[in-house]
Amino acid sequence: MRIIELHGKTGDSKIVLGESIEHLSSYCDTANSVIITDANVRKVCGSKFPNGMEVIELGTGEGNKTLETVQLLYSRLLELGLDRSSTLVGIGGGIVCDISGFVATTFMRGMKCGFVPTTLLSQVDASIGGKNGVNFNGYKNIIGTFRQPDFVLCDFELLATLPERELRCGFAEIVKHGAISDAALFTYLEDNHKAALSLKKTAIEKVLHDALVAKARVVERDETEHGERMKLNFGHTVGHAIERITRLPHGEAISIGMVAEARLSVAKGLLTEKDAGRLHALLGNIGLPTALDAKCDKTAIIDAIRKDKKKRNAKLRVILLEGIGEAKVSEITEADLEVAIHDLC
Ligand code: NAD
Repeated sequence: MRIIELHGKTGDSKIVLGESIEHLSSYCDTANSVIITDANVRKVCGSKFPNGMEVIELGTGEGNKTLETVQLLYSRLLELGLDRSSTLVGIGGGIVCDISGFVATTFMRGMKCGFVPTTLLSQVDASIGGKNGVNFNGYKNIIGTFRQPDFVLCDFELLATLPERELRCGFAEIVKHGAISDAALFTYLEDNHKAALSLKKTAIEKVLHDALVAKARVVERDETEHGERMKLNFGHTVGHAIERITRLPHGEAISIGMVAEARLSVAKGLLTEKDAGRLHALLGNIGLPTALDAKCDKTAIIDAIRKDKKKRNAKLRVILLEGIGEAKVSEITEADLEVAIHDLC
């Protein structure tokens, strides 16, 4: 078991790697706590939830990540007589964590909160760093809060029931952490991705630990994303647009987005062809996509990036690589972007 501490302005998190969900009762008063989960997760690991603990079950999918769900949860918490001394525990993927964190931050101006993330993506990304939120009017995660969860328990055994495609998606975020800030993690993945993909304990614990330490340190330096935290968006400027237009899962869209943003880095003279090739090869070896289907609507993707940036009242900013393990916030032109998207097909 390994513990990572994250000290933020919005709270401190204790992240416990390799802890079993069956020890959840050591982290909260189960008589004064409630679990939020989804139907799939309850089916695969509900029998491991602490006896007698109240459970609220949500439906699955992004369509549930709404203010309507939040209102239903507020009503249920009131019925259960919970208050600021109570703990809300989100057990599930990124959707459950994002909703639970938002409810825990806003109900009675804040109750205690912990997560047991059950997808690789939520173990390596969504449960860590204190971003909580829901979708609104077609925009992802546009309503939300920053607050660190009190504890996060990463139980690797829960990943065994995860569909293989979901597992690979989580690896996209791990590769990202290596690419932007940890060259040693990147090299380890090049050499050991097969062991990590097969959930060999030493390998999965090592890659999660290193990726989480990298993320935790960035979050501590820039919790509310005014500077360095933006680097965590490597692959996401292009990736989010691909996700919206093609409906590919997040991790697959981010994988293609990273390839595009690495190509942009080469075009700007920041990254060598060789290092861009290493990133491309690693993603491909993990089984993640690295190109767009030739039939996909490239113009729609370029438009989606433009709109997203306009919405945020920002210039066309992307994260570019200066080498494996080094990233910087840069500005690019729309012409640069068009070339990069066309090159993806
Ligand atoms: P998800 O929560 O939808 O989970 C994926 C699917 O796997 C669901 O159907 C779920 O029921 C099922 N599942 C979960 N655990 C399982 C298990 N152990 N075995 C079998 N099935 C299981 O999706 P996700 O990929 O975990 O997260 C995506 C969400 O996370 C998005 O809404 C995204 O915006 C958010 N996110 C948030 C942050 C953040 O910093 N807050 C970062 C990245 C992503």
